Amino acid sequence: MKIGILGAGQLARMIALAGYPLGLEFVFLDPSPEACAGKLGEHLVGAYDDLSMLAKLAAKSDVITYEFENVPAHATEFIERRTNNVYPPSNALNVSQDRLNEKNYFHDLGIPTSDYWTVDTFRDLKLAVFGKNYPFILKTRSFGYDGKGQVFLNSEADLASAWESLKDYACILEAFVPFQREVSIIAARSVSGEVKYYPLSENLHKGGILRVAECRENDHLQAQAEDYVSRLLESLNYVGIIALELFDVDGKLLANEFAPRVHNSGHWTIEGAETSQFENHLRAILDLPLGSTAAVGNAAMVNFIGGLPETADVLAIDNAHLHLYGKSPRKGRKVAHVTVRTESKEQFEESISNLKKLADQVDES
Ligand code: AMP
Repeated sequence: MKIGILGAGQLARMIALAGYPLGLEFVFLDPSPEACAGKLGEHLVGAYDDLSMLAKLAAKSDVITYEFENVPAHATEFIERRTNNVYPPSNALNVSQDRLNEKNYFHDLGIPTSDYWTVDTFRDLKLAVFGKNYPFILKTRSFGYDGKGQVFLNSEADLASAWESLKDYACILEAFVPFQREVSIIAARSVSGEVKYYPLSENLHKGGILRVAECRENDHLQAQAEDYVSRLLESLNYVGIIALELFDVDGKLLANEFAPRVHNSGHWTIEGAETSQFENHLRAILDLPLGSTAAVGNAAMVNFIGGLPETADVLAIDNAHLHLYGKSPRKGRKVAHVTVRTESKEQFEESISNLKKLADQVDES
């Protein structure tokens, strides 16, 4: 069985690494000849909207999936017309690619969010903030990730400069949410509709990029998060892994966004769950029974961003598991992650603290 993947970055690489024990083969389409999953299967070098390359990928694959949400929706629709086996479905891409559609979609499903307003002109922006309390965040509706395409508005004095920087894009204005925590829930739904939920991840960001994701087994907000993500899964007739990012405000969850793919906040599942998100994504799209999502100890993941740690320094930390992506370091680029998994909570705290120190040193070097 051969799986085609749009994109050959670290997420595609980890999907392939999970697929080899299941006897699967892989073919990737990615415009970059250096893309880091390329060595794990056949790599078609080409653009995501090159119809001849898409047709080639479809011809070589039994099932097709993708590793990032900015794949042009018309690319997956084109493949969908040739084969029914493209998962997650392209309507999930359509919704998640536009923050305004996404927020409206949440509302239609009764999933709460921050207050938000459409902003197409400077007048829209001024009207939206009129008589309301700051702060706000102005975001581009499309192609934002890792905090890119976002401007904080602390007072009226910030309006003109915020508009100047994003005026070329269709935008959405969001009320700033005074959250206590950021969490995400990762869930899997198979072709025949079997659903499994992972324990919540609690997420810390650095400079708008995910730094730490920790498994929160038995979190008091697990049921609320499962309820919200299950509404998305059912209404999208979803297949594969989905990640729903949420703000915890006094015990009430507000949805920020969802990703129709495997997600960085679920990397701890490789060692920290009975079945990883990558394996369950493959099981889901192949309509195989889903594996247990139970946590197998204390688990968390730390990202290395822009700088690579020495392998020996990571492996000197008890219970640390290193995942190098095979990418050359560049500012703001995720190049590796490390999972810590332990039986003992005390050991967990010590190893995570050592790992965070190491990550901060590597960032500053
Ligand atoms: P996003 O690209 O929407 O995931 O935003 C990146 C990060 O910015 C989030 O993980 C939050 O830390 C922060 N953020 C985004 N939107 C809001 C909001 N409405 N209120 C507070 N913080 C936010």
